[in-house]
Amino acid sequence: MDRVYNFSPGPAMLAQPVLEKAQADLMCYGTTGMSVMEMSHRSKMYTDIFDKTVADLRKLMAIPDDYDVLFLQGGATEQFSGVPLNLMKTGKADYVDSGNFAHLAAEEAKRYGTVNIAASSREDNYTHIPDLKNANFSDDADYVHICQNNTIYGTRYIELPDVKAPIVCDASSFILSEPMDVTKYGVIYAGAQKNIGPSGLCVMVVKKDLLGNPNKLCPKLMNWTVQSDKGSMYNTPNTWGIYLAGLTFEWLLSIGGVEAIHKVNVEKAKLVYDFLDESKLFKGTAQKEYRSLMNVTFVTGDADKDAAFVKAAAAEGLVNLKGHRTVGGMRASIYNAMPVDGVKKLVAFMKDFEAKNA
Ligand SMILES: *Cc1c(COP(=O)(O)O)cnc(C)c1O
Repeated sequence: MDRVYNFSPGPAMLAQPVLEKAQADLMCYGTTGMSVMEMSHRSKMYTDIFDKTVADLRKLMAIPDDYDVLFLQGGATEQFSGVPLNLMKTGKADYVDSGNFAHLAAEEAKRYGTVNIAASSREDNYTHIPDLKNANFSDDADYVHICQNNTIYGTRYIELPDVKAPIVCDASSFILSEPMDVTKYGVIYAGAQKNIGPSGLCVMVVKKDLLGNPNKLCPKLMNWTVQSDKGSMYNTPNTWGIYLAGLTFEWLLSIGGVEAIHKVNVEKAKLVYDFLDESKLFKGTAQKEYRSLMNVTFVTGDADKDAAFVKAAAAEGLVNLKGHRTVGGMRASIYNAMPVDGVKKLVAFMKDFEAKNA
């Protein structure tokens, strides 16, 4: 059977060379006579894989030495709890409410301390990033939490908030899709299943001077200080997930790194948005200046036509285009692993559908 173009928001497509390598290694990794899944996480063969994975991520993101890299379990959502449990020293934090995940992160943090919603675009159904210039940031927040790319609404920040407190960024749906200046952040964390690898893994970049003050009740596995001391191996980590993340990092390095893939991502997004802007049938839902490069949200304005489009597209091998229920319509998630050809095929299909249904 042929592979489809999978526009799923996550778990999402992996790059074909990554899947091919994993398939080739599945029974016997190198000369070990066993699969990576069967190796002790403490073995030399596995720690070599692990160390290279960390080193490659450091290279890709130009991560300075005063930042730690952690590979933790539980996805991004677990860190909605992990962030306040590790960082609320005085018990106060600022959150920017730019979408569903940003909202969920803030709601979870309220269980551990005082949460100030510095700005929100909730009343506009999150069609834009809130106004950061007139936001109500506190003087004494332990950190400022943002979700920089809003997976469900298809928006992304065009600039970071100008704040003193460390910025904690949920980067799940855009990490490694464009260059990020790591020094501008205190913490970057991302569930792996969008741009990195399989689900159940959270990749974290943490400024070392933020470690050392966890809440007394912080569970061991969520405790970044413990995990940093133990090299992400307080217990058995997600060994297979980390190995696959490593393959994705190798693939990205082989094609020129984050700057190179960013150019491709800009090209892909432009193909869809340019068409949306001239379309008589489809309309983008996110405000133009905040449009995401990763998640393109659009509607026809007619729920029946939307459903017909999603169904007809799937029959052409363009799958998982249904939008999130809070936005409706369609969403094309075009992460790093989505080839330009997949996007061209999508746009051609949209044109064809428009000609028949406008
Ligand atoms: C997908 C996603 C999450 C949730 O990730 P899990 O790994 O399922 O916990 C959180 N934040 C953002 C921005 C996401 O896109």
